[in-house]
Amino acid sequence: MDTKVTRRNFVKLSVGAGVLGATQPLSAEAPSRPGWRGTQRIEQIATNCEMCFWRCGVIAEVADGKVLRVSGNPDHPLTQGRLCARGNAGTELLYDPDRLKYPQIRVGKRGEGKFKRVTWDEALDYFAQKLTDLKTQYGPESVALMPHGVSSAFFGTLMRAYGSPNRAEPSFAQCRGPRDVGYALTFGRDLGSPEPVDLEEAKLIILIGSHIGENVFTSQVTAFAEALSRGARLIVVDPRFSTSAAKADWWLPIRPGTDMALLLAWMNVLIWENGYDKEYIEKHATGFAELREHLRGLTPEWAEAITELPAGDIRATAKAMAEAKPAVALHPGRHTSWYGDDTQRARAMAILTALTGSWGRKGGIFFPTPLKPGKFNLPPFPESKRGRADGAGTRFPFASEDQGVTNGLIDATLTEKPYPIKGWVIYGQNVLESVPQRQRTLAAMEKLDFIAVVDVMPMEHVRYADLVLPEATYLERYDMPHIVPSAKKPFVAVRQPAVEPLYESKPGWWITKELARRLGLEAYFPWKTPEQHLQTLVEPMGVSVGTLGARGAVAFEGRPYIEDRIPADGPLFPTPSGKIELYSSLLKQLSTGRAAPGFDPLPRYTPVTNPPIGHFRLLYGRSPVHSFARTQNNALLNSLEAENELWINAKVARDLGLRNAQRVILVNEDGVRSLPLKLFATEGIRRDCVYMAHGFGSGANGLRRAYGRGASDNALMSRVQVDPIMGGTGMRVTFVRVLRAEG
Ligand code: SF4
Repeated sequence: MDTKVTRRNFVKLSVGAGVLGATQPLSAEAPSRPGWRGTQRIEQIATNCEMCFWRCGVIAEVADGKVLRVSGNPDHPLTQGRLCARGNAGTELLYDPDRLKYPQIRVGKRGEGKFKRVTWDEALDYFAQKLTDLKTQYGPESVALMPHGVSSAFFGTLMRAYGSPNRAEPSFAQCRGPRDVGYALTFGRDLGSPEPVDLEEAKLIILIGSHIGENVFTSQVTAFAEALSRGARLIVVDPRFSTSAAKADWWLPIRPGTDMALLLAWMNVLIWENGYDKEYIEKHATGFAELREHLRGLTPEWAEAITELPAGDIRATAKAMAEAKPAVALHPGRHTSWYGDDTQRARAMAILTALTGSWGRKGGIFFPTPLKPGKFNLPPFPESKRGRADGAGTRFPFASEDQGVTNGLIDATLTEKPYPIKGWVIYGQNVLESVPQRQRTLAAMEKLDFIAVVDVMPMEHVRYADLVLPEATYLERYDMPHIVPSAKKPFVAVRQPAVEPLYESKPGWWITKELARRLGLEAYFPWKTPEQHLQTLVEPMGVSVGTLGARGAVAFEGRPYIEDRIPADGPLFPTPSGKIELYSSLLKQLSTGRAAPGFDPLPRYTPVTNPPIGHFRLLYGRSPVHSFARTQNNALLNSLEAENELWINAKVARDLGLRNAQRVILVNEDGVRSLPLKLFATEGIRRDCVYMAHGFGSGANGLRRAYGRGASDNALMSRVQVDPIMGGTGMRVTFVRVLRAEG
C-alpha cells in the first residue's frame, strides 16, 4: 500500500516562510494523511466547502479522477473536521446531472428559456463585444455587477478595471448590512464573518431571532452546544419555539417587530437598577448621560404592553445579564433586514453589549486579529465621474460601497436615475430568490439591453439571460484564499480543485482572465496561474503555499481580548471619538436638519403595523439541510427535505378549519399566491404569525428535483420597508392569508 498526500503544484511553489507584521503562523509543518479504500489509492485534497458561506475545511478523497467522498479536515483551525449534512452532500452538487454544462446564447425571447450552445470563444467574444458596445454607448457605469460567492471577487476586479462602480450583493441589503452598520456606528468596526462571538467562554448567550441549530454553521453550532453542556444559560427571543428556544432557560415569545422595546427595557434595568459594567463604560464609552436620560421610563412594565412579554421576565433576564457580565454573548445575528429600522435595532444590541462590558472581553464579542495578505501591483482603477447608481453613500449614507445595495441598483435600472443601467452581470446570485419584490426585479430585467449569468446550476434567473456561462463547482476550482481575521485563531485557508471541471464548465478566475484579455484589461490580472495568485497573497503572511496546499489551512496566534491588543492592531474603538459611541456622533450629524426619520443618535422604538384581520405576519428562517435556494436540487439533501412546511398556531388552525399536514396556499395583501405547502399546526408559534423555511418553491424547471416543491417566502414579499440609513430591505412586513389548497 502507498499513502500519498497530494500537494499538487503547491509543492513546486513552496518556499521558506517569510514573516511580516506582528502575526506569525502557528505551525509550518504539513501532516501526513492516511487515505485508502481497500487497495485503491486515494488522493486526499484539502480544500474548503462552499455548500454555504462558512467554508468549513474539507478533505476530498479522489480516485481515478472522481471525488469518492468529502469529509471534514481535522487540521482546519475553526471547523476541526466537522461538516454538516450539506457539506457532506458536496459530491452530489459536483455530479448533479442538472448542472449548467456549456456556454449558451439566448435565441428566443428573453425569459422564454431558449438558448443555443456555443463555444467558449464565441461566448467570451460575444460578452466582450457587448461590454464594449455598452461602454461606448452609455458609459462603463451602465453595466452593474450582481455578485455572490468567492469566485465573483475576480469579476469584481474586472468591473472596476472596466470602469463601473456599480456592484451589489444581497449579503448586505438583504442580510447582514444593518447589523454591520449598527455595530460599526457604535464600536467603530463591524463584525465580519464568521461572527466573533465567544460562545466557548460565555456564561450567558442571548439569541434574538437567531436560529442556531436551524441555521447550521459547524463551528458555531458546536460551540453553542458545548457552551450549553457546560452550563451557560440561554435567553431566546423568538415568536416561535425554535430549536434553540427548546434549549433555553428563558424563551421570550415576543410580538414580532417589537424587539427594540425589549432592548430598551433591558438597558433601562441595567442602567437604572445598577446592573451595567460601570468601570468599563466610564473607561471606554461616551454618551452615557444622554443614554441614561433617553431610557428614563422605558421600564419592563412599559415594554410589556408593547412586546406582550411579562415585565417580570424582562427584568429577570436583564438581571441574568448583570450577573453574567462581561461573559454575555449577545449574538448579533446574521440575516437582520426585518422591519426597516434594523440598523437602529443593531445599534440597540451593540449598546446593550457595551453595557454588559462584553465587547473585547472573554465570553462576549472578541476582536479580530489583523492579517496582512500580499498585494498585486495593479494599474490605477479608473474613477467614475458619475458615481454610484445604487444610492450607497448618498441616498443611503451608510451603505457599503464594497457590497452595494441590490434594491438600489434595481431602482436605478427601472427609473434610469441617476443614469441608465443597461447591462447586468449576474455572478452566482439568484436575483429572483435573494432580493424581494420579484416583480420589480423582473421588470428591471425586461428593460436591460444585456444580461450575462455565470452560475453552476440553472437557477430561476438563468432563463432571463442573454448569455449563460457554466462555472465549475468549488470542488473543481481554485478561488480566492479564505483569509479570516475574525476567528480567535485567525487563519488562511485554501480552495483548490480536487478534480478537473466536468462538462465544459470553467473556473471563475479563468473566465475573468479570458474576458479581461479580450477587453484589453489583462494588466489587472498580472498572474499567470492561480497558484501564482495564491503565492502572492499568502507568502507575505509567512505562509508557504506548499504547507497551505497540503493541510488546507494555516492558523496564527490571535489577540482576541482588550488586554491582548498591541499598537499595530490600531485603535480599540475606531469611532470619531475613539470610544464606544452609545450616543452616535455620526447619526447626530446626519439627523440634524434631516426631515426623514430614522437617524436618531439614540435608538428609539417605532411601532410596527399589525397584520390586518384574517392575516398573519410571514416569518421565515432556515432549514438545517439547505442553504438559501441553492441546495434543494441536491439529490441527498432533497431526499432529506424536498419541501418546506408552514408553521401555524394549532388553535388558529382549528379556528380556520385546517388540519395538521393538510396542504395550504398563502395569499399576500397584493394578491400574490404561493405554491401549495404542508401545514404544521403547533403550539410552538404565536397566533399572529406563520413561519416557513426559505429557499423552496423553485420556479426553475431545469432543477428537476427542486422545481415546484414547497413554497417560496421571497415570492410573497411584494412589499418591503427600506432602512434609510443603509438601504436594507426589511422583509418581515409581509402579511398573508392561509387558504386550503385546491385539489
Ligand atoms: S456549515 Fe455545512 S455547508 Fe456550510 S461550509 Fe460548513 S459544512 Fe459546508
